[in-house]
Amino acid sequence: MSAHFDIFVAGAGPGGIAAAVTAAESGKRVCLLDANPTPGGQIWRGLRLETARNYPHGAEFAAWQSRLAASSVEILPNTQVVDQAAPNRLRVELESGSETQTTDIEFNRLILATGARERFLPFPGWTLPGVMGAGGAQALVKSGLDPRGKRVVLAGTGPLLLAVAASFARAGAKIEGIFEQAPLSRLASFALRTMLTHPGKFTEGARYRLKTLSAAYRCNSWVKRAEGRGRVESVTVTIAGKERTIPCDWLACAWHLVPNLDLPRLIGCKIDSGYVAVDALQQSSIPNVFCIGELTGIGGLEKALIEGQIAGHAAANREAEARALAPHRRSQQNFAQQLDQTFALRPELRTLPTGQTIVCRCEDVRHSALAACTSWRQAKLHTRCGMGPCQGRICGPAAEFLYNWQSADSRPPIFPARVSTLAASADEASAGQITQCPTASR
Ligand SMILES: Cc1cc2nc3c(=O)[nH]c(=O)nc-3n(C[C@H](O)[C@H](O)[C@H](O)COP(=O)(O)OP(=O)(O)OC[C@H]3O[C@@H](n4cnc5c(N)ncnc54)[C@H](O)[C@@H]3O)c2cc1C
Repeated sequence: MSAHFDIFVAGAGPGGIAAAVTAAESGKRVCLLDANPTPGGQIWRGLRLETARNYPHGAEFAAWQSRLAASSVEILPNTQVVDQAAPNRLRVELESGSETQTTDIEFNRLILATGARERFLPFPGWTLPGVMGAGGAQALVKSGLDPRGKRVVLAGTGPLLLAVAASFARAGAKIEGIFEQAPLSRLASFALRTMLTHPGKFTEGARYRLKTLSAAYRCNSWVKRAEGRGRVESVTVTIAGKERTIPCDWLACAWHLVPNLDLPRLIGCKIDSGYVAVDALQQSSIPNVFCIGELTGIGGLEKALIEGQIAGHAAANREAEARALAPHRRSQQNFAQQLDQTFALRPELRTLPTGQTIVCRCEDVRHSALAACTSWRQAKLHTRCGMGPCQGRICGPAAEFLYNWQSADSRPPIFPARVSTLAASADEASAGQITQCPTASR
């Protein structure tokens, strides 16, 4: 048995919320699903209506959250898409208390809004406790980790560095330095263009910098190694060619983001230059499958919201309303392209790992073992790289950058799944564990 919806939205970040609300307001029966307990995605994670206005982007959150609450959208929290059971049917696992159930959801149209994750690059010491992804560190602080008095270094690239530094500073941490690998010339031209074309984003960046003014912000600089006994105690960075060692309690790294392409790939959507290729209505190469937000280019909140609304209108057969939003979309897409160009990784970062540096931390595969391989497939077969619990989500993008390997297509299940789910996929008729979809909550 399975539930059936006019429109099924996978991923309840800003893009998914905008798509679901827009489609439901056109009278369609819509389901919005997310692996997290509440809608909000990366940027609105853990925000509550009562306090949202005290946070950056809290006003947008409050507005969309209110529309979502007033809409007929049926929300499935704690639910992960793991497989495509058939065309127009996805297999999901729902967590409810201590139980996990498997069910199928059927739909006429599908909107994928599965967002992005952090890219990690290996360097000596990157697996020490206290070395974190900047976004992950921010999520921990949003979920209650107390950074008061901790000495934090931020290193890597992209606007996330400043945003996370500001979050830490606001929560009482001492920022010891922000190290951006992009050269000054690229940053200066990006800042100027952003000021002229997206003044709101420029002001947001300036506000983040004002919050962290007591810390140095260096460009042309990157982490060389992290050191410590049992956990990170210091980080060595290179600044315009000179090395400097900085004592710290935490090192938060950000190497820009990579889109979560597992589900679009599984469904067969065409990928172009690292993102899902879509038309003016956000429709992918597969008819009636729409992709939005970070899946079509790393561009931030406004891009996700605009593309979500376009896809919501288009999936609800309101093409004119969708097309009317095209100029806003173009502007956000231009911004996404500028981000990619400005924060492109420099080739020197390929030389950071030594032979002993672990690249695949699930399977303990070192750089020296991988350097002997010629492809992602060969690395998997010979070293088990990318075959651990994260299924290459961390080492895959690193290997793509370090060795220029393209990761293979997605294979089900796209997330680790229960044996009964696998059995259901192998033999639906005899599995018997597929349950009827419980009433989706509002
Ligand atoms: C770690 C991190 C931190 C960020 N911090 C900031 C910040 O401080 N400021 C800022 O301006 N921007 C930040 N961004 C960027 C911002 O979050 C995005 O631009 C914006 O959220 C994009 O929205 P989206 O809807 O495309 O995706 P997301 O917000 O990423 O939402 C995607 C959702 O899909 C869900 N999902 C994915 N796969 C599945 C699946 N198989 N089954 C079920 N659910 C699934 C995820 O749980 C997630 O909730 C951050 C991004 C990341 C990755």
